[in-house]
Amino acid sequence: MEKQIGELYEQLGDLKGKLGDMLEENHRLAMENHHLRNRLDSNIEEQQEDSEKQKTAEIPGEGYDNLARIYEEGFHICNVHFGSPRQDEDCLFCLEFLNKAK
Ligand SMILES: [Zn+2]
Repeated sequence: MEKQIGELYEQLGDLKGKLGDMLEENHRLAMENHHLRNRLDSNIEEQQEDSEKQKTAEIPGEGYDNLARIYEEGFHICNVHFGSPRQDEDCLFCLEFLNKAK
C-alpha cells in the first residue's frame, strides 16, 4: 500500500512536470503565433501602402520622388513602357518624363 502511494506520488510529480512543459510550450506557441500574425498584418499594410503609392505615381506631375524611385528600381515610368522592367538600360522616354515632372 505505502509503496503504491509512493508510486502514485511519483506519477503525480511526472504529470505536474509534463503539464508545466505543455503550458510552457503552449505559451511559446501562442507568442510565436502572435508575432507571426503581427508580421503578416504589417506586411499586408505595407503592400497596401505600396499599391497606394503606385496609384499616386500614375498621376503626372505628382509624386516625383515615387516615380524616380520606381525608375531607380528598374521599371519604366514613361507612357511608352510604363510599369515594365527596364532591364538595366536607361530609357530616353523615362528620362525625358522625369525631367518634365521635375
Ligand atoms: Zn521608359
